[in-house]
Amino acid sequence: MEKGKIGVTTENIFPIIKKFLYSDHEIFLRELVSNAADAIQKLKTLSSAGDFKGELGELRIKVNVDPKKKTITVSDNGIGMSAEEIDKYLNQIAFSSANEFLDKYKDQTSGLIGQFGLGFYSSFMVSDKVEVISKSYDENVHTVKWTCDGSPEYSIEEAARAERGTDVILHLDKESKEFLEESRIETLLKKYCSFLPVEVQFGNEKEWKDGKMADTGKPKIINDTNPAWTRKPADLKDEDYVKFYHQLYPMGEDPLFHIHLNVDYPFKLTGILYFPKIRNNFEIQKNKIQLYCNQVFVTDSVEGIVPDFLTLLHGVIDSPDIPLNVSRSYLQSDSNVKKISSHITKKVADRLADIFKKDRENFEKKWDDLKLFIEYGMITEEKFFEKASKFALYKNTSGKYFTLDEYDKFIKENQTDKNKALIHLYTTDAVAQHTYISKASEKGYDVIVLDGQLDTHLINTLESKDQNSRYLRVDSDVIDNLIKKEEKHDSKLTKTQSDDLTQVFRSQVADSDKAHFQVRAESLDENDLPLIITQSEFMRRMKDMSQFGGGYSFYGEMPDSYDLVLNTNHPLAITLAEELDKEHAEELRKNSAGIDKTKVEVDFMEKEHGKKKPEEISSFEKDDLEKLKGDLKQLEEKRKTLLTGFGNDHQAVRQIVDLAMLANNMLKGEALSAFVRRSISLL
Ligand code: ADP
Repeated sequence: MEKGKIGVTTENIFPIIKKFLYSDHEIFLRELVSNAADAIQKLKTLSSAGDFKGELGELRIKVNVDPKKKTITVSDNGIGMSAEEIDKYLNQIAFSSANEFLDKYKDQTSGLIGQFGLGFYSSFMVSDKVEVISKSYDENVHTVKWTCDGSPEYSIEEAARAERGTDVILHLDKESKEFLEESRIETLLKKYCSFLPVEVQFGNEKEWKDGKMADTGKPKIINDTNPAWTRKPADLKDEDYVKFYHQLYPMGEDPLFHIHLNVDYPFKLTGILYFPKIRNNFEIQKNKIQLYCNQVFVTDSVEGIVPDFLTLLHGVIDSPDIPLNVSRSYLQSDSNVKKISSHITKKVADRLADIFKKDRENFEKKWDDLKLFIEYGMITEEKFFEKASKFALYKNTSGKYFTLDEYDKFIKENQTDKNKALIHLYTTDAVAQHTYISKASEKGYDVIVLDGQLDTHLINTLESKDQNSRYLRVDSDVIDNLIKKEEKHDSKLTKTQSDDLTQVFRSQVADSDKAHFQVRAESLDENDLPLIITQSEFMRRMKDMSQFGGGYSFYGEMPDSYDLVLNTNHPLAITLAEELDKEHAEELRKNSAGIDKTKVEVDFMEKEHGKKKPEEISSFEKDDLEKLKGDLKQLEEKRKTLLTGFGNDHQAVRQIVDLAMLANNMLKGEALSAFVRRSISLL
């Protein structure tokens, strides 16, 4: 037996390995199985080059757990190692690269560290002794056994092994007992090795027989060595892609489309991406893409590797060119990763454009499910926007689909306002906003349905790209104001009458913490409703956006703000104005005269004071002005009290307010009961 000390450095790395990457301890299995697969691949290469002339036999990796001996064994019938090779690969190269790796990442806590790099030495994360028994493909060399107990000392001795290949035997330490459970190992093998290019056997298949599980003698192979992404697209049918999707996500709904990626230059990348159905719950849908390196699973967190919107896709990316043993921030600046990311973006956009062109009907059918994804891309990736703006769709309230360009042409004639702005009317809820939609239809206007999670963000983006284009929700103002044309209705009430009526209505509306109201008068068509509730586009949109965070939260905390637009040409408004006149004409006239006169006096005095320097104004003059201002305030208060009294006395006012609220589904609780009682008494 020969003994020696591992590696070139004197520092003992084993304690570090053990403590290191605690949560990632499981990766030891992936590392060992990958090594075994490499050994088998190398043998195949030698064989096809004619450098190995023996029988290849059934090439396979076997993993075994022995709970009694507390060992896990990973065996392969690959290339094997001679004593010299063990010394070179395990004692020197593997050790020093593991050492180097640890040196580099000792202080990092990034989640990526455990993903690649430790190699063979990761077995010491879970073992207090590791044995390697190896018989080289070269029949002229001895079978050898290497043993290391977690100190830098190792031993090499001659040993016996029936066949060519390598066993790596881990004697698990006390803290790693969990890995003695078969189910745990099987789960790990499925996670990391499901698509390894070499068969991996984990014991035998069992079946239920005579009341207990019995060995069938058939090897249990846990992997598919030939997964769909490694095959040629020409050899695959749509069903194969769907089948593979379910291999990846057994519980998933059928995907909408797939994209087969295959890049050779300037980097190597293969994979299949799927568009899943995404309706809501955006976050839950993210991060389903699995990243592989030569068919070995690495991670399912691909942020930083693909643009954020692509993390909504599902599927597999396999690339040996993605550097994985680096931190996220480094990854994002890596030029290969950048190329990969923009390549995938381009492929995805091209594929969608293709489907749109070839089969628009199908595309439209799937649009509602695709929309969230496409909009996310359009909002966040300029390059994607350019392509996607050609196939992104609007759906109008009659369920017809238009591309952005088609739609602009469609509404241009009728929905261009007097300032040449093209007004896109939209609804976020066709049922709740029905009254407004029908008003728009009466005018011959079209309304699109924007009820998606990202629609508000998208229209912001679209508006910022085209100054002449505006998006207004149907209830953000009365229809004549939404698309302003020249025509205007004359008001049948005087300015004073409509101001008074505005106050009367204001007196019957109560603000709450959550909602604030302004009443304003507009001379609309007499056939329009007497009172219409609108909500300013700007504030509402900012509030909508605040739900997604990102600097808008200020708006999120503000109360909703509504306008009550009083139609001063409506017969009910006119009747109320006449009644007000009948009951209070004299009082109101006197009050108006008083207000007008006082206002003139206040104005005059302020002007006079303005001509003097502050110190020249006597206290007598100052008092005079203050008194006048006080009088004015009193007169205004008096008018307000009178108008409020009028409002209180005339149930029609409350009734009109409540009907407007009801039409917007805003009449609730106590107010609703009062409305019902009042309505009955009015009958
Ligand atoms: P890496 O696999 O990244 O090269 P490792 O530390 O995992 O690093 O392994 C070091 C070397 O040891 C390998 O490159 C290979 O030459 C050799 N080796 C490891 N496992 C085996 C095996 N099962 N059969 C043959 N050679 C092996």
